Amino acid sequence: MHELSIATAIIERADELARADGTDAVSTVTVRVGELAGVVPDALGFAFEVARDGTALAGAQLVVEQVPAQAWCGPCAEEFPVGMPPFFWCPRCDQPSNDLRCGRELEITGIEPSRASA
Ligand SMILES: [Zn+2]
Repeated sequence: MHELSIATAIIERADELARADGTDAVSTVTVRVGELAGVVPDALGFAFEVARDGTALAGAQLVVEQVPAQAWCGPCAEEFPVGMPPFFWCPRCDQPSNDLRCGRELEITGIEPSRASA
């Protein structure tokens, strides 16, 4: 399962960031996942629950913010959603455009320390 390796990477990175910050228990980790990142949010959430044991994230919740995929059409100066599966075609001028602006994100955007840690 490919989400498990992604969840493990997120946990390792968040664990590292939290410890560097003097936090030994994390309550929430927020990640941004693009529509085209190739990650199924539900599967990622499940993998996260499996992989978090024994880390500073053992009691943490994963919050997934989904980012819709958008492409840019230069001549129209317009962004348009490419959908899933992606279709790189400007709906305004009816021309192809493969200038993807967002949708491949896979990044940690927030780590909340656990306030109740003893
Ligand atoms: Zn256009």
